[in-house]
Amino acid sequence: MAEQIFIWRISLTRGKFKFLLLNFQNLSSLRLVVLSCLYFEIVLNFSLWRFAFSKIHINSAITLVFAVSLPAFIFFGLFSIFNALIWPYFYKTILILLITVSCVANYVMFQYGVFIDSDMIRNLFQTNRREALDYVNLSGILWYLITGFFPSALIFKSKVVFKPLFKEARDRFIYALICLFALSVLAATLYKEYAVFGRNNREVTRLINPTNYIFSAWRYFRLQALANKEFSPIDPDARLTPFEDDRFTVLVIIVGETARSMSFALNGYNRPTNPRLINQDIISFNDVTASGTSTAVSLPAMFSHLGRDKFILNEAAFSENIIDLISNSGYKVIWLENDNGCKSVCDRVNVRDMVTENNLKYCDGSYCFDEVMIDSLEKLLDQVHEDTVIALHAIGSHGPSYYKRYPFEFKIFQPTCDTSEIQNCSINSIVNTYDNTIIYTDFIINRAIDSLKKYPQFESGLIYISDHGESLGENGIYLHGLPFRLAPDEQIKVPLIVWMSDAMKVYDNIDYNCLINRSAESFSHDNLFHSLVGLLEINTKLYESNLDIFTPCRLKPLPKYLNDN
Ligand SMILES: [Zn+2]
Repeated sequence: MAEQIFIWRISLTRGKFKFLLLNFQNLSSLRLVVLSCLYFEIVLNFSLWRFAFSKIHINSAITLVFAVSLPAFIFFGLFSIFNALIWPYFYKTILILLITVSCVANYVMFQYGVFIDSDMIRNLFQTNRREALDYVNLSGILWYLITGFFPSALIFKSKVVFKPLFKEARDRFIYALICLFALSVLAATLYKEYAVFGRNNREVTRLINPTNYIFSAWRYFRLQALANKEFSPIDPDARLTPFEDDRFTVLVIIVGETARSMSFALNGYNRPTNPRLINQDIISFNDVTASGTSTAVSLPAMFSHLGRDKFILNEAAFSENIIDLISNSGYKVIWLENDNGCKSVCDRVNVRDMVTENNLKYCDGSYCFDEVMIDSLEKLLDQVHEDTVIALHAIGSHGPSYYKRYPFEFKIFQPTCDTSEIQNCSINSIVNTYDNTIIYTDFIINRAIDSLKKYPQFESGLIYISDHGESLGENGIYLHGLPFRLAPDEQIKVPLIVWMSDAMKVYDNIDYNCLINRSAESFSHDNLFHSLVGLLEINTKLYESNLDIFTPCRLKPLPKYLNDN
């Protein structure tokens, strides 16, 4: 009896398969593209929808519209991929390959909660057969048979009717345009929602089948290729060549995060965001352009000697930067890290990670207020007995959780937006919260200067520069990361603040008033390398005096050996 039922079931399944197969004969290419999109969207992206379901909180009409638009957005995205991939002769191989890999990825992501990135691909290549076999179990096999093997068999048996090549290509081109248009409309009308959701949930792209493993594999192979590259020193002969003084030079470099120039009262903003620095003897350069719109690009680029035009991000990790040069030339260099890592800039110097040190006065285990670095700075200054450069990598105004960047007493402008879901806040409250981060940054820079002032025996100075700016709703744009050429000033104009002790002004022959006059001129991250070389009196062939901000304001030219080679 049981056997009979089993056979009956098989023949029923066969019957269904035959019925389905019938629908897959004489299938038009457009229908195959649409069916593929729907299958990937509905069946092969379980983890994506589980994730979206847990992360999207529908509490307003606009979040509801966003939630509804997401499946449409994914559909058009998938459509543009399959529309490009499905062609005569190739479509069966490509679809069966994508379905098989996506089916396995879907299972692993859904069952084990993993995200697919280049590290996962590396693990995959390093996994031996025994480890891999651990994943093979009954539910895995069933999952594969139903969602992988069965649709692959349908594709294998299918017969798709393509138009003559020219007509087919023309139609596909039109579909691609329609798709692009639909995606643009969605992105433009719900830009804020997509940008904030993406920023708060960066890992979501690692859940989208099949783009997650395609991009991760591509990234993995690219990194493998780069890993074989040799690390290159930029100038092994660079030497600290102090002139005219016998004091220790102590320079503090504060690398800001997401601070935009136009939100600094020092640069003309009409709110009092610099209540402390306004009384310091500082120079604020108010037209400085960043080298990128994201930390990943700006940070390595601003410390590179190449300048924005020649800088290649993928090669930055294999080449020295100004931090290495300073260290190799004879300075003691300490990098205090309080942001999300230094993007390989500080890999070869002494680094102290503030989050790991977890000073409970300022840290909660996952973030620290930037003041934590000032405490460390003061202790370091006490121990200075050689020429020293201390870099402070601040978390500054890192969004979208601006409200987490400052202690309660800096909640000056109100109401604030006390959530990472800034799409639910008014622009006014977002700007208030962001401006409070700038007041806190003002406090941090001011405290660092005051700390240096306690040691008049040093030739000390401080440079503060931010990596990139931030959009706060201007023209409907938020956060940062737009392509550089399209980026508005909010994202690429950054503050640059310089303070020098009297000793530094004297021994470096700097005419401070001349610098004040220069503060309205246009500069960029490209000036940082050369300005630091000049200020730190490093003899290197890489120095270009015309890019050194301080050059025209030196009362005496630099010694001959420091000038251009
Ligand atoms: Zn940044």
